[in-house]
Amino acid sequence: MNKKKHQAENLAIHLRGMIPEQILKYAAGHFAGGIAFASSLGTEDQVITDMIVRNNLDIPIFTLDTGRLFNETYELLEQTEKCYGIKIAVYFPKSPDIEIMANRYGVNLFSDSVANRKYCCLQRKVKPLRRALRGLSAWVCGLRREQSVTRSEVAEAEWDETNGLVKINPLIVWSDEEVKRYLTDHDVPYNRLHDQGFVSIGCACCTRAVKPGEHPRSGRWWWEEPEHKECGLHWKNEK
Ligand code: SF4
Repeated sequence: MNKKKHQAENLAIHLRGMIPEQILKYAAGHFAGGIAFASSLGTEDQVITDMIVRNNLDIPIFTLDTGRLFNETYELLEQTEKCYGIKIAVYFPKSPDIEIMANRYGVNLFSDSVANRKYCCLQRKVKPLRRALRGLSAWVCGLRREQSVTRSEVAEAEWDETNGLVKINPLIVWSDEEVKRYLTDHDVPYNRLHDQGFVSIGCACCTRAVKPGEHPRSGRWWWEEPEHKECGLHWKNEK
C-alpha cells in the first residue's frame, strides 16, 4: 500500500471519535504551515470557518469563484469576511481555459452531456483547486457522509490520491440537524438561498431548489443520474 495512504488511514483512526473542533485543532498542529481550508461557503463550510476563527487556528481559508455563482453567494463571501474580520483567498479559472471551452462547446455546455459538464467543472473548479492546493500537505473539506451516495464511505482523514495530499473531513459524521443547530447557536452567516429551498449550492446554472423530502443534492445537476453528482473536487483518481 502507498505509504502516504497508510499514514492517512492511521490518522483517520486517531481522529475517529473526536469532535470537529478537536479534529481541526489536531490537523492545524499536525500539518502546521501546510494546511488550508477549501470553503464553498455552504452551510458546513460556514460552520468550519466559524470553528477556525473561534479557535484562532492557523488554517488559511480559500474559495473557488467559477464565474457562474449566485449573487447571494458573493454577498455571503463579503459578509463572512466582514463578520469574522478575515480575508478569504479567491481562486479563479484561467481566462484562456474558459475562452477555449466556451468557443468550442458553447457557454452552457454542461447541459449537453455528463462529459461536457465534467469538463466545465474541470476548467472552472478543479484546475483552480489544484493551484490552491499546490505546496500543501493537507486540505480541510466540509464533506458529510449523509450528503450523497458518493460520500457514504468517507473518513475523518483520507489520502487524496488525485491531488497528492491528505484530506481532513471534520464534519464527516454530523447530521443535517447538527449543522443547522450550530449555525443557529453561533449566529453564523449563511446563504439566503437556503431559506428559499436551496440546499447544496454551487453554480447558479447548475443548482435549483429542492422540495421537502428530496435528497439534499438532488438540486445539483438534476438532469444527471445520482452517481455522477460530484463537481470534480472530490472525484477519485481522475486527472
Ligand atoms: S457546476 Fe456547472 S457551471 Fe459550475 S463549473 Fe460545474 S458544470 Fe460548470
